[in-house]
Amino acid sequence: MAEYEYETHEYDVVVVGAGGAGLRATLGMAEQGLRTACISKVFPTRSHTVAAQGGIAASLGNMGPDSWQWHMYDTVKGSDWLGDTDAMEYLAREAPKAVYELEHYGVPFSRTEEGKIYQRPFGGHTTEFGEGPPVQRTCAAADRTGHAILHTLYGQSLKQQAEFYIEYFAIDLIMSDDGVCTGVVCWKLDDGTMHVFNAKMVVLATGGYGRAYFSATSAHTCTGDGGGMVARAGLPLQDMEFVQFHPTGIYGSGCLITEGARGEGGYLTNSEGERFMERYAPNYKDLAPRDYVSRCMTMEIREGRGVGANGDHIHLNLNHLPAEALAERLPGISESAKIFAGVDVNKEPIPVLPTVHYNMGGIPTNYFGEVLNPTKEDPNAVVPGLMAVGEAGCASVHGANRLGSNSLIDLVVFGRAAAIRAGDVVDRASAIPATNTASVDKAFDRFDGLRNANGGTPTAELRLEMQKAMQADAAVFRTDKTLKEGVDKMTAIAGKMGDLKVTDRSLVWNSDLMETLELDNLMPNALATIVGAEARKESRGAHAHEDYSDRDDANWRVHTISHVDGPKVDLSYRPVVTDPLTTEAEGGISVKKIAPKERTF
Ligand SMILES: Cc1cc2nc3c(=O)[nH]c(=O)nc-3n(C[C@H](O)[C@H](O)[C@H](O)COP(=O)(O)OP(=O)(O)OC[C@H]3O[C@@H](n4cnc5c(N)ncnc54)[C@H](O)[C@@H]3O)c2cc1C
Repeated sequence: MAEYEYETHEYDVVVVGAGGAGLRATLGMAEQGLRTACISKVFPTRSHTVAAQGGIAASLGNMGPDSWQWHMYDTVKGSDWLGDTDAMEYLAREAPKAVYELEHYGVPFSRTEEGKIYQRPFGGHTTEFGEGPPVQRTCAAADRTGHAILHTLYGQSLKQQAEFYIEYFAIDLIMSDDGVCTGVVCWKLDDGTMHVFNAKMVVLATGGYGRAYFSATSAHTCTGDGGGMVARAGLPLQDMEFVQFHPTGIYGSGCLITEGARGEGGYLTNSEGERFMERYAPNYKDLAPRDYVSRCMTMEIREGRGVGANGDHIHLNLNHLPAEALAERLPGISESAKIFAGVDVNKEPIPVLPTVHYNMGGIPTNYFGEVLNPTKEDPNAVVPGLMAVGEAGCASVHGANRLGSNSLIDLVVFGRAAAIRAGDVVDRASAIPATNTASVDKAFDRFDGLRNANGGTPTAELRLEMQKAMQADAAVFRTDKTLKEGVDKMTAIAGKMGDLKVTDRSLVWNSDLMETLELDNLMPNALATIVGAEARKESRGAHAHEDYSDRDDANWRVHTISHVDGPKVDLSYRPVVTDPLTTEAEGGISVKKIAPKERTF
């Protein structure tokens, strides 16, 4: 057994992650008077949320008529009827409140002439329950909305005396023998010390796992660590087969060009100079939802109408927009286009390609952020002591496909909801749970095993194999054949985890070991994605299956629940929540209005 000395810390609440979700939860917990620690493997304001450009959705109605009911309808339709209706209602209804709170905390939103929060159009956001014209619902701070939110929330959290543990890497959850989460084990990256945090509530806000793929818009730190910890604790992941490709990653680097670029009037063209989205989506055109636009781009390329020497990408045109508008509304992406594509957006189109961007799936939760461990008897059973928020979680408001600007609002609405819930369920007077040493020993054993891994496969090599397999086989379009091959490849790749080689044995700034821990987290996320996709014999949202091109509500309007153990994935299914929180008579939306229908644009 591996022996490591550790320091023990005690808190009411420990939040793992300091992105938008983690910081909003941390701030809310501290405001509730709970003693709160926030742990992050990177400096808080370097979390991936800092890169969010386009904005945050809320039906403020600053630029024209809007209502939360319309926002809810668009989210239901965007999810391709896989989202949980209670959570989607909660999101749309609470969104304006959550945005005004951000404003009052000090987020420097862009402004209209009258001084109201500026809002731009984004894909899939409409009026009149999808019957009316597009709406300007996405609140923006130029094209640096995530940056503005993250810095504000960090400052506010410090003001509320939340305590930060920065550059601490959470290794594993501490679970009691009867299945309660009682803390987390961490490795401090800069001095190699070990730390055990005991808490009444642990909140996972560790972000997505985009780095399971070869080309992704997400930061290198987006390695699904929360999903990995949950899988090792014997808890499930949900709907992992739904991976969003953003239509406009810069060709080559994968760096994101925000959908706000099309919101501000940009459009896509093929090698014939045709604005092809007008053909596929006569109503929504370039602002159809992301899954749809990504598929249309892929079809144009497949049919020989891609641009460039190899005909393998598409053009995004902004050069018709006034230079002042680009400078004021899209300064960041003008810079990215220059750096990563060598393009002056005032003169030339940007070369773009669908790129992995967001994980709809994650750790299943209810709309309070409490983690679920569904059983046959109780599909809504809660894991005591454990919450998950943000991209790491799956509430599920995005279902099979997330609408642009609905993630930032998910972070703050559910970060806030988790804090409100914890304020109710955490007993401030009770004792902090004692350390379950057996659970801590297990975490150290795994850590030590990886630290001393002495096989034949370097971490970077196995990671690349995984990323290439996922990119090729869990792609924009999927078939029985590619998915079967993907499952076989990924099972073999996961089987090689025992043959890893780590060259650095030290504990101080050991990036080789840290990346190995991250790979050990990416692997269950990737496996659940490909196995869940192979099993789902229909097309829905981001899961476009060429052998089953229709959505099949009779058999497949269900959440995929996956338990991952080594290279093995066990699947079961959980019903979708179809009832809203309020009835039409109470001011809510009628069940008939949100009943499944064909998703056209
Ligand atoms: C380029 C880009 C642009 C985007 N633009 C928009 C947009 O305009 N609008 C929108 O709605 N959405 C947008 N999204 C999506 C949205 O930004 C993300 O889904 C969201 O920011 C995720 O936030 P999070 O708080 O869940 O996680 P993150 O911001 O990824 O933060 C994760 C945190 O967890 C910590 N962490 C992870 N693992 C560990 C560990 N093992 N130990 C300790 N700490 C750990 C990290 O240090 C970090 O602090 C964009 C995404 C990208 C990639």
